[in-house]
Amino acid sequence: MPTAHRNYVDGEWVESRSGDTFEVLNPADTTEVVGEFQSSTSEDAEEAVEAAVAAEDEWASTPGPARGAILKDTAQILEDQKEELTETLVREEGKTRSEAGGEVQRAIDIFYYYAQKASDLGGTVKSPSGEDKNLYTKREPLGTAALITPWNYPIAIPAWKLAPALAAGNTAVLKPASAAPTVSLKLIEALDEAGLLAGVANYVTGSGSEVGGVLTDHEGVDAVSFTGSTQVGTAVAQAAANDLKRVQCEMGGKNPTVVMPSADVDEAVDIVGVGAFGTTGQSCTAASRAIVHEDVYDEFVGAIADYAEALEVGPGADDPDMGPHVTESELEGSLEYIEVAEDEGANLVAGGEALTDGEYADGYYVEPTVFADVENDMRIAQEEVFGPVLAVLKVGSFEEGLAVANDVDYGLSASIVTQDLTEANQFAENVEAGVAKVNEKTTGLELHVPFGGYKDSSTNTYREQGDAGLDFFTSTKTVYMN
Ligand code: NAD
Repeated sequence: MPTAHRNYVDGEWVESRSGDTFEVLNPADTTEVVGEFQSSTSEDAEEAVEAAVAAEDEWASTPGPARGAILKDTAQILEDQKEELTETLVREEGKTRSEAGGEVQRAIDIFYYYAQKASDLGGTVKSPSGEDKNLYTKREPLGTAALITPWNYPIAIPAWKLAPALAAGNTAVLKPASAAPTVSLKLIEALDEAGLLAGVANYVTGSGSEVGGVLTDHEGVDAVSFTGSTQVGTAVAQAAANDLKRVQCEMGGKNPTVVMPSADVDEAVDIVGVGAFGTTGQSCTAASRAIVHEDVYDEFVGAIADYAEALEVGPGADDPDMGPHVTESELEGSLEYIEVAEDEGANLVAGGEALTDGEYADGYYVEPTVFADVENDMRIAQEEVFGPVLAVLKVGSFEEGLAVANDVDYGLSASIVTQDLTEANQFAENVEAGVAKVNEKTTGLELHVPFGGYKDSSTNTYREQGDAGLDFFTSTKTVYMN
């Protein structure tokens, strides 16, 4: 049994007052305990916020290049541990080795990126209305930021919140999701090793309602950056609004890929297949709806069913095509939606079963699943499954495809496969999503461009990543100097 990991508060590794811990299991082999973590109380969370508040002034007045140097050292420490971090991510979240390696590299790159940005937060010199005057804008940190993160990108998402928050001179309290807190702890360990001032970054594990509740309510918190489900994010946004905290919630998706007759069907199948089944469908940007023109519908359905059936499913450590679900409840979620889709009359053309025999016996496995003949008012077409379950819908025209793509509460990522430039342009202009892609999978995005959703996928106030990531964590002050 491993020793329980501790919280990190005011530069110290501390146990929770509760005296309780919780276990994280390997989803590919639930007989293996990956780690034990503190079941923190609200007092633990309050202490972390107080430490962050106390460190605000010193960190905010640390020159940008010095803040950047700490982030750069952190990136180097993480880079040195890349193999170990990848291994940990595979064991705690179930990603395949390739997926985990890519995510760890992303986290490293994010720290390098914001290490540079710490020296240049932006601001502009304006022309004043008279002589002997200066007029300019500058960016200032907000204070203490609460960072609440999900389990599905358990190192990249904490990195893309922590790095810009710290680069901009804020202090932070990170609360990772309980299903996969280990790799985010490694970020904190690396910051500690890089010599970060005590109190600037704090880390508290525990229940969403108890620890997360303090972070969204505490008057010392100036900003809340949340990524997770729309249901929780809505409550977080409401709580943060009570005392006018700045808040950013990035939430769920029901992402479409529209396939037009001009598309190469094999290419379309690859684009949809990787989008739907990559990371076991557990991406906010996963392609969960293929909206296919009737001229290529039958060919597409046959080919995507073959694609799904051919995927090799297994433990992430063996680097198969698809790993397990992260937890039993996530597996059950997928199985429930499979039942719902069958009851609704959708046509199961691939997968549909949990994998429970032999090598799968101790893991949370489900077959890559495809439903054809889905109608857009079915739950399987409207609700986020967050698993490897694809709904295929038939449409008769580009206009209908676009309308179906938009006829959903979510609006995170959307793609189209077409060789027609007019369709490509019209799709990019009119699709209701924060990310619009042509001849590309719905998942994945470069780290220097803004990322966020429309509609119920986001509070849609600020974007994450790139310069937009810094916008959220700074206020603009206009200075008029006579
Ligand atoms: P979740 O909403 O269950 O949990 C997210 C985080 O919120 C966790 O740390 C959790 O402990 C915490 N939390 C729970 N209740 C809380 C409360 N009352 N107050 C404050 N915090 C609370 O989400 P999850 O299951 O971890 O992640 C999956 C979801 O995240 C999916 O819906 C997915 O689409 C979404 N997601 C969105 C993006 C994006 O950028 N849009 C990226 C990744 C994941």
